[in-house]
Amino acid sequence: MYRTHTCGELRAAHIGQTVTLSGWVQRRRDFGGMTFVDLRDRYGITQLSFNDMIDASLVEQARGLGREFVVQAVGTVLERENKNPNLATGDVEIRVTELRILNGSKTPPFTIEDATDGGEELRMQYRYLDLRRAPIRNNLLLRNRVNLLVRNYLAEHGFADIETPFLIKSTPEGARDFVVPSRVHAGEFYALPQSPQTFKQLLMVGGMDRYYQIVRCFRDEDLRADRQPEFTQIDCEMAFVEQEDILAMFEGMVRSVVKDVHGLELGAFPRMTYADSMRLYGNDKPDIRFGMTFVELTDRAQGAGFPVFDAAELVVGIKVDGAGAYTRKQLDALTDYVKRPQLGMSGMIWMKVDESGVPTSSVNKFFDEAALRGWAEAFGATPGDLVLVLAGAAAKTRKALSELRLHVAESEGLRKPNEFAPLWVLDFPLLEYNEEAERWFAMHHPFTSPKPEDISLLDSDPGAVRANAYDIVLNGNEIGGGSIRIHDRAVQERMFALLGFTPEEAQEQFGFLLNAFEYGAPPHGGIAFGFDRLVALLGGDEVIRDYIAFPKNNAGRDVMIDAPSPIDAKQLTELHLGIKPQ
Ligand code: ASP
Repeated sequence: MYRTHTCGELRAAHIGQTVTLSGWVQRRRDFGGMTFVDLRDRYGITQLSFNDMIDASLVEQARGLGREFVVQAVGTVLERENKNPNLATGDVEIRVTELRILNGSKTPPFTIEDATDGGEELRMQYRYLDLRRAPIRNNLLLRNRVNLLVRNYLAEHGFADIETPFLIKSTPEGARDFVVPSRVHAGEFYALPQSPQTFKQLLMVGGMDRYYQIVRCFRDEDLRADRQPEFTQIDCEMAFVEQEDILAMFEGMVRSVVKDVHGLELGAFPRMTYADSMRLYGNDKPDIRFGMTFVELTDRAQGAGFPVFDAAELVVGIKVDGAGAYTRKQLDALTDYVKRPQLGMSGMIWMKVDESGVPTSSVNKFFDEAALRGWAEAFGATPGDLVLVLAGAAAKTRKALSELRLHVAESEGLRKPNEFAPLWVLDFPLLEYNEEAERWFAMHHPFTSPKPEDISLLDSDPGAVRANAYDIVLNGNEIGGGSIRIHDRAVQERMFALLGFTPEEAQEQFGFLLNAFEYGAPPHGGIAFGFDRLVALLGGDEVIRDYIAFPKNNAGRDVMIDAPSPIDAKQLTELHLGIKPQ
């Protein structure tokens, strides 16, 4: 038997017992005739002690142990002289009577401690060592816990876990597909699913009523920090539901997970329309843990002779409570922030209300005290507050102010990781126009149904049609999104036509779905959550990589197994991708 207990299990109640532990050597300390070893496993750390008064040869053996050796120790549980309150097992130690080395270890390339000296690349290359570190291990255990909580919740509500295929048909809508060449069918390819969207809809046509899957999805998108080419969704679909039913069901799911993980009662989730979210926060995933909502000043600010304002499509600002004491240097740094090429603003205007209530600004030349008092009133600014204003083309200015708002909130300590502020964003536009492609694209996906009251606008004013679509946002991150689907062939065909498909193309690519809609498709809708992101947020992080056991790096590579990698000529030929033999 390798062990009677784990390294996280022993307490004062075990004192006097003979136990066997197995684990890894975290640390060894030698003093005079004593040696101490911290033995680690997934469950914790237990101190082993060796005393040469008792057995000098054991001390000798212990002194040969290096970091990460795998050992088995038999001994007696003793009360510790110097108790360690930071360790669950800190009241006791094991006086070792037998020691067996199960396996040696090379010196690890980085320290296996909570705060490691290992850089990102090295940690990824030796991920199995990184996994031994408590922070990463705890993240994966949190992931497992959330997975079980979600499954339990969904099972309790009648959802069935049903697998859908990974080798499917490539379609041009959405992101780029990863494709898999077929060996048997020369010149033909499967695609890996970007999501099980059409399959889960077909499950509804198939009468499965409530489906879910915690499922891997694949998108060959351009690389961005913290984007994984394969990621996991909690994918759900329900038949005979309206938007309200979905919101209630999945708000309940998030509430129950947060309650279980953090002991927090979230209450009813606020709801905001997409239009309000854009107007008040400049984006469709607002962080509502704090205020600083946008105030538009365009009318007020124009006509005073300040060319930047006069030429602007939009003048808009935020109020930072109590930041009136920001120094020139701090304000300059904020100006530089919005002037970065990513945001591309030409500058930033500020106004402060001093302690006696008198406003001053960086544009005093154009705006007298009365005008600035008008601004202060519009923002509800009181003595000691700061107002930051941007001006320019509307979309670009909103985006920049939205980033500035988050940046300021971050430095003001307003983005607290242990605070959870969820909300629903509703009434998304159905379509968005892409200037480059010169056509409409589905904002969510082509299967989302328009709001029935807006269907009449589909031909005359497609951009004004709102969708029965919703996003769930947590702390400024979109954690899920979904929609009520089209279940009528004619409406779906109209949608494809709007997206620039000829009837033949629609039939060729999505005929299976269009046909299915002719055999009694029930009204249905669903949602998918980004599981990696949800878990990371629950763990108090915004980076998903350390919540995935074996993630890809920022360049989309697995540096541990070295993928992607070339394949040999024979394999290429078999897959009909090679150069034909002469
Ligand atoms: N399949 C959609 C997505 O991946 C989610 C949904 O509509 O259920 O974004």
